[in-house]
Amino acid sequence: MSINTEFDQQHIWHPYTSSIHPLPCYPVVRAHGVRLELENGQQLIDGMSSWWACIHGYNVPELNQAAQNQLNKMAHVMFGGITHQSAVELCQTLVAMTSASLEKVFISDSGSVAVEVALKMALQYWHSLNQPRAKFLTVRNGYHGDTFGAMGVTDPQNSMHEMYQDFLPQHYFVSAPQTRFDEAWQENEMDEIKALLAERHQDIAAIIIEPIVQGAGGMRIYHPNYLKGLRQLADQYGILLIADEIATGFGRTGKLFACEHAGIEPDILCLGKALTGGYLSLAATLTTKKVADTVCSGKAGVFMHGPTFMANPLACAVAQASLTLLLESPWQANVTRIEQQLMAELMPLKTHSNVADVRVLGAIGVVETTQAYDVATLQAIFVELGVWIRPFGKLIYIMPPFVITRAQLSQLTSAIEQALQRLA
Ligand SMILES: *Cc1c(COP(=O)(O)O)cnc(C)c1O
Repeated sequence: MSINTEFDQQHIWHPYTSSIHPLPCYPVVRAHGVRLELENGQQLIDGMSSWWACIHGYNVPELNQAAQNQLNKMAHVMFGGITHQSAVELCQTLVAMTSASLEKVFISDSGSVAVEVALKMALQYWHSLNQPRAKFLTVRNGYHGDTFGAMGVTDPQNSMHEMYQDFLPQHYFVSAPQTRFDEAWQENEMDEIKALLAERHQDIAAIIIEPIVQGAGGMRIYHPNYLKGLRQLADQYGILLIADEIATGFGRTGKLFACEHAGIEPDILCLGKALTGGYLSLAATLTTKKVADTVCSGKAGVFMHGPTFMANPLACAVAQASLTLLLESPWQANVTRIEQQLMAELMPLKTHSNVADVRVLGAIGVVETTQAYDVATLQAIFVELGVWIRPFGKLIYIMPPFVITRAQLSQLTSAIEQALQRLA
């Protein structure tokens, strides 16, 4: 039976789409390795890892097996008053693989919720210290999710803040980091945030930032010294630092976690997306013993959060299998190989008349065009060329599964080049 795309168009919302003029959707019937198979039999090389998540590709035997094993035991059980092996093993792995100081794990359902949890931890931390603080400090071009708390610290323009202005808390935004990853560091870049902190530090519960790569807010890649500077300022004022590694975590930038580029440890860390290798929705918020204990030393006596599907055993089992697979694989060699190939094949596109900039870090390649092209048109060109690349605004970007071969990656980069030529 064929997929009823007409019903889809008439009744189903897709991410950021109009119900009046929905964009065309491509029916996918199965996926394997780095290939998506469309209903008409066409195979597409996947350049998106389904939004950073499917780092091992699709239909991965080890992850299928983990899901099946867990399914035969139990798909779900409540986490209130109950624990299970999948959660314990996963949290042991997360504690071991992240910064030494991060010892306490809160598992939740999605990235946005992991951010809400991080913000609540920071607020409750200051509440317990009898110094309630209600503001967060962040940078422009950031993206932290679509729920209200997360939206409040996301770039006001990208998230259309004005629309929700009466409802959203107002936080402090400074300019996005300017010095690029490999440029000479400009110390005066910290002046704006230093000035703001000097004046307002007593209102601020935490600084929240995506380390090194700003994802959905512009695919910008910035200098590690900016992150180092934030850590120093947070320490100087005793403010918490929240690292949102939901996109960057698990090897994507060439380090297991992007904070490692700057050699810093956050007080709170948000993880998601690739956590289950893209199989199921799961996220985690990690923090230090000091923050956790302070949070729970206040009036409430507990951390006030507990989702229904917290630590879903099926998702935890697949996450544990995904992390084991990652850590046992030559992921770093793979990411370095992808980075070198992206440098070699995307950087030359800078000379195209419709290209404003090219950026590469780890297994992330970004081509910024001089104008925004129609997504549906560009999407159709890519599908015709046999690749799955989903651009937004002026950004054509890829972050393929780490297992992509040299030849498959070349198909992605050459499709980008051909698309640019057709649009020029
Ligand atoms: C995707 C993303 C989120 C939100 O995660 P969801 O699972 O979509 O809720 C938050 N922060 C960053 C940096 C992200 O890339």
